[in-house]
Amino acid sequence: MIVILKPSIDTQSAEYHYTLNALQGLPGIEVKLNSTQGTHEVVHEIYLIGDTEHISKDNIEALPGVARVIRISTQYQILGREQNNRQEFEFEYNGVVFSQNNLNVFAGLCAVDSIDTVEDMMKSLQSFGQTCTRMGAYKPRTSPYAFQGLGKHCLPYVFEKAGKYGIKVIAMEVTHARHIEEIMDYLQQAGNPTGVMLQIGTRNAQNFELLREVGSQKTFPVLFKRGYGITLTESLHAAEYLAHAGNHNIIFCLRGVKSLFGPPHRNMVDFAHVPVIRRLTKMPVCIDPSHSVGTLDQTPEGLSDIFHATAQGIISGANMVLVDFHPNPPTAVVDSRQAIPTSDLDWFLEDIRIARNAFEQRAALAQKRLNS
Ligand code: PEP
Ligand code: MN
Repeated sequence: MIVILKPSIDTQSAEYHYTLNALQGLPGIEVKLNSTQGTHEVVHEIYLIGDTEHISKDNIEALPGVARVIRISTQYQILGREQNNRQEFEFEYNGVVFSQNNLNVFAGLCAVDSIDTVEDMMKSLQSFGQTCTRMGAYKPRTSPYAFQGLGKHCLPYVFEKAGKYGIKVIAMEVTHARHIEEIMDYLQQAGNPTGVMLQIGTRNAQNFELLREVGSQKTFPVLFKRGYGITLTESLHAAEYLAHAGNHNIIFCLRGVKSLFGPPHRNMVDFAHVPVIRRLTKMPVCIDPSHSVGTLDQTPEGLSDIFHATAQGIISGANMVLVDFHPNPPTAVVDSRQAIPTSDLDWFLEDIRIARNAFEQRAALAQKRLNS
């Protein structure tokens, strides 16, 4: 059950405390508070977790400070979207808005390899008005002998360059709770010139301890990548771990699944699930065409499979694109076969605009039919 408080409520006020005390007194019910900064106002919600069937919705609605109550029947108690609930769910982080109604592009380096590539990449992003990127510092690799990422050593210049080139949010994978502290410390030392979105990689999708650690901090939003060897339902439950630990600013990323039927792509692309996530949950949906497709092979008109998969995800409403670029792909130390050269960034962004416009036209047509 979600209790939505009045938008103007003062969390120091008597009505707020009265309502909270009443809810905390409900036997056998766990109470979780969440405040989200939307574009217009702060939304205060209280989640009642447990067996809420016997609780009267009317009684809760009668408490002072309560605007409305939503009974949750979905298994994803915090992130789930009730059937026919068109409620918008958005959050703002470091000036960037994330929601199921917009689109953010995070083009950048799969792995940070040098200060020069970081600078080149960010300069290109700025020249095309981009304020978000991806930068892998901690790399989970299949072989212990492969390059493991520069880790905390690259953070000072990654953050400094981000500030210099107006980058507001960097998606960065963490594989250990210690990395959260490192990122926080280095950001602070640099004077907080940018923001970070903590990424949970596909290999850690069911690392419940890590999910709890990442979910229990509220400084950074989280990009959760679906597990590549588990069902979508299992991945959604895993994302719910983050929310249950306290952080609701979560983006769910589709990145393909391991399958014998995937090749010649690296993974079986799962972007047909974009509408499923938008329907079942309130989370903005990200697509990662690089790690799912994995090659830059092209169709006869000169569009790579990565461009095609990106367009396919966006035309069905994806809200974020996480994609590998590199100023000089053959020299990239990780995943060089899937990195798009930064010289194609303008083309990629234009292709995305075409696909997003097509989605918006499709959505407008659907609305017109529904309202007629
Ligand atoms: C990545 O985005 O750098 C990455 C390793 O992705 P995934 O966890 O999806 O394999
Ligand atoms: Mn990679």
